[in-house]
Amino acid sequence: MSRQMIVGNWKMNGTCQAAQALVAGLVGRLPQDSAEVVICPPFTQLASVADQLVGSFIGLGAQDCHQAASGAYTGDISAPMLADLGVSHVILGHSERRQGHAELDETVREKAVAAIHAGLTPIICVGETAEQRDANQHEDVLGWQIEGSLPAGFSGVLAYEPIWAIGAGRAATEEQIAQTMAFLRAELLRQFGEAGKAVKILYGGSVNAGNAPSILSIPEVAGALVGGASLDADAFLSIVGAAS
Ligand code: PEP
Repeated sequence: MSRQMIVGNWKMNGTCQAAQALVAGLVGRLPQDSAEVVICPPFTQLASVADQLVGSFIGLGAQDCHQAASGAYTGDISAPMLADLGVSHVILGHSERRQGHAELDETVREKAVAAIHAGLTPIICVGETAEQRDANQHEDVLGWQIEGSLPAGFSGVLAYEPIWAIGAGRAATEEQIAQTMAFLRAELLRQFGEAGKAVKILYGGSVNAGNAPSILSIPEVAGALVGGASLDADAFLSIVGAAS
């Protein structure tokens, strides 16, 4: 089995100076055989963090990219620009972008195609709202999101992030995660055939040092996408330490 993957999503937090301090608290403290670790600072911190990560085992990710390679898109950042900085991964379709920037599945898919073309590994997020889960519609919603957001033959990373668990301080239960992971794998196989086996599925939503060991031992959980706890070096390292 391949190593589990722990991705830190720093969201819109910190200055370059704060980022340097956080990275200094991570670099050199990870054993060579640790889980695969990727940190995703805001765009403004990518260049300085890239320099700091040279020679470390930590990968660098971004939190979004535009679907076009270049052009008249004021304020946007393209996948080739990220690759140029040494970025290897990019989070796409996070619920905060789907909701706050009205991103559609189709846009997420176009961004994923652009990212792959630029040599980046997309981490595509899917997840249902509390209302959808309460109405037992979550599997339908997740199936549609996979169908609409993942390019054909996708072999990157899928992050299951129930929206109601993000930043909530309370993760989904082990039973909910296990059932949904099994559903997602079955759905990937149904939609993509054999290629669906290669997709790593992460769980995200209030993962912390305390719940990481149990969440990361659930079958099909190939790792975690971590928001709040990734801003604290000790907490993030504990989560990494719980991964296999
Ligand atoms: C996220 O936003 O991707 C996330 C998982 O956040 P948190 O860990 O803070 O719930």
